[in-house]
Amino acid sequence: MTRTRPAPSEHHGNHRAAPEHRPIVVVGGGQAGLAIGYFLAQQGSDFVILDAADQPAAAWRQRWDTLTLFTSARYDALPGFAFPGEPDRYPNRAEVAAYLTDYARRFDLPVRLNSPVRGVRKSNGTYLVELDDRGVESEQVVVATGPFQAPAVPPIATGLGPETVQMHSSAYRSPREIPDGRVLVVGGGNTGYQIAEELAGSHEVHLAVGSPQKRLPQRILGRDLFWYLDKTGLIRKTAASRIGRRMQANEDTLIGSSPRGLRRHGVELHGRAVDAGGSRVSFIDGTQLEVRTVIWATGFRLDHSWLDVPVFDAQGTIVHQRGVTESPGLYFLGLPWQHTRGSALLGFVKDDAEYIANQISAFGSRAAPEEPIRKHERVV
Ligand SMILES: Cc1cc2nc3c(=O)[nH]c(=O)nc-3n(C[C@H](O)[C@H](O)[C@H](O)COP(=O)(O)OP(=O)(O)OC[C@H]3O[C@@H](n4cnc5c(N)ncnc54)[C@H](O)[C@@H]3O)c2cc1C
Repeated sequence: MTRTRPAPSEHHGNHRAAPEHRPIVVVGGGQAGLAIGYFLAQQGSDFVILDAADQPAAAWRQRWDTLTLFTSARYDALPGFAFPGEPDRYPNRAEVAAYLTDYARRFDLPVRLNSPVRGVRKSNGTYLVELDDRGVESEQVVVATGPFQAPAVPPIATGLGPETVQMHSSAYRSPREIPDGRVLVVGGGNTGYQIAEELAGSHEVHLAVGSPQKRLPQRILGRDLFWYLDKTGLIRKTAASRIGRRMQANEDTLIGSSPRGLRRHGVELHGRAVDAGGSRVSFIDGTQLEVRTVIWATGFRLDHSWLDVPVFDAQGTIVHQRGVTESPGLYFLGLPWQHTRGSALLGFVKDDAEYIANQISAFGSRAAPEEPIRKHERVV
């Protein structure tokens, strides 16, 4: 990942007011920001959670209408408050948005909406957290801005002509918004499969799968997959462990879907999409398809270009130990595989959140991080 960091003048401008002081700032009020908020509130810490959006649970509100979780309600709870309803059902994204909204209210967490953070930089030994019109000075900052930030679209997308409607999966909401005609969904992950299946009820749908993902059933012998991952301890295997490394290599697993199931819905499967021109997409086996709409279910990348602190290696990868960086008082939370497979999941982020909250509480009484910082820990 290469990062182009804006010059300071581009992103912080002139603050009209003198910066406010808060000992701890959490950037991002999604599940990760709220989970650490819970622990910080329990410690009686003075902190604020800044979120760019104008509503709570913004990331979930922006996902497609019928999104159904791959984790059952039993495994969707943040610390201290069970996810409501029958624990073995699979909630939809509206329920998650409602749950997170209630969560912040229930624990009276200090979330400030409409507060996009444009920059964080070190200034006189503290961090200056820069918003559009003000700044907050802080000794400790937690970056909890999410594992899925910037939509990733392959370069071939530029070959499509204006006659072809194209969008990233993050812009897809419902079949009603997709014009009549043939749809190609590109990307064989959970998102691509769910969108292709939904659209098959109203459109002719094709799915391009670049590298087929390892398939796992949603339920085994009547139990949810995550029950097994939890009970066997696999969900808590660390990124650096042998099993953890193997799991990361197969991280993109298709949960509860299969090519055969999709074909039953009438979806035609193709190999990798390798080229596009006008309204025609070419696949790796040389076949071509005329399409009206292309939906790129091709994932996301991290974007921390607004962070002006020395926590990245030459490739732009965050260097950290379980979210603790070499810049004292600066932490990450909610990164994919920050520590375990559960690090970026609703029901498991609490483990890292508690760990970082303890680091925050020990800050000042600690000369150096508990464990040596490991370079190049995989986080992207
Ligand atoms: C399609 C999809 C399905 C998923 N399904 C599941 C599932 O079934 N079960 C599960 O456990 N997990 C699932 N996940 C994974 C994960 O739980 C979610 O991605 C979750 O939203 C991550 O929470 P977060 O708090 O880390 O980040 P986010 O929810 O992305 O929250 C980040 C917050 O930071 C704010 N923000 C970002 N940048 C700034 C800034 N510069 N300044 C201020 N605020 C900022 C945003 O407004 C946002 O509110 C899914 C993810 C996707 C994409």
